[in-house]
Amino acid sequence: MTEAAFAPQDAAALLRWYVDHGIDETIGEDAIDRFALPPPAAVVAAPAASAGPAPSTPAASTPAASTSATPTPIRAPAAPPVVRAPVPLESPQLAEDAREISRRATTIAELEEAVRAFEGCALKRTAKNTVFADGMAGAPVMIVGEAPGADEDRLGKPFVGVSGQLMDRMFSAIGMSRERDLYITNILFWRPPGNRTPTLSEQAICLAFTRRHIELARPKIVVLAGGTAVKAVLNTTEGITRLRGKWTTLTLDDGSEVPALPTFHPAYLLRTPASKRQSWADLLSLDKRLKELGSA
Ligand code: URA
Repeated sequence: MTEAAFAPQDAAALLRWYVDHGIDETIGEDAIDRFALPPPAAVVAAPAASAGPAPSTPAASTPAASTSATPTPIRAPAAPPVVRAPVPLESPQLAEDAREISRRATTIAELEEAVRAFEGCALKRTAKNTVFADGMAGAPVMIVGEAPGADEDRLGKPFVGVSGQLMDRMFSAIGMSRERDLYITNILFWRPPGNRTPTLSEQAICLAFTRRHIELARPKIVVLAGGTAVKAVLNTTEGITRLRGKWTTLTLDDGSEVPALPTFHPAYLLRTPASKRQSWADLLSLDKRLKELGSA
């Protein structure tokens, strides 16, 4: 019989250490030695649909081809969209790449494909799934939260854990559901390890896609759930407690404007139930605004 590698108390201490460092889930049976992997390209090409057809230039001739008895036509390679040598994962260049790639997406499906192919956000390496959106694309209300948690990472959909269930109940109280009236996303598409607060660089990279997401979804109203989403989307340092319930106008990169309503994050309401009263006032205000816009 082989001896256990660790005494039980040492194994328990090691597990505690992992949890303290945000490693609270196993995502595979076998450990991956990431130091042994080649470094990934910083950014993967935008979706084929938006990259355009390969140019139909005449076959190029190379010295090798010209000496051959039966010359083989050599196709000019399709123009590579944005494939860059790896840059550090905190580089502002990655947010610029994300903006350029997202601008090329002309539909939500193309944008989703581009997000899934994007390798420029470090969070993707530790997440199990890309969490893009849920609900009805084109719905009158688009909710933007912060980042997937453990349940969302496992299931690949935003707001499906306990805080999402509270959010569903709150919206159903004003007659709205994700099956019919809501389109739901986050500023981040990948779960930060241990649910840590995403860095400003991670936020900036994903936000480029999220802003384009709002442009393409064209909601009548954007609801910003929680301080991180509010600060990132509205580019403000003001806290959620001051901003919640106050309507503002979000100006997107294509020049379009959409009314935006900051409100508390449902996870905050789970910790601070007394604040539900203010969130209820926000929901009533949303309902009223939708009726004024002829959408409720
Ligand atoms: N919290 C968020 O902000 N988004 C989710 O999808 C889940 C929890």
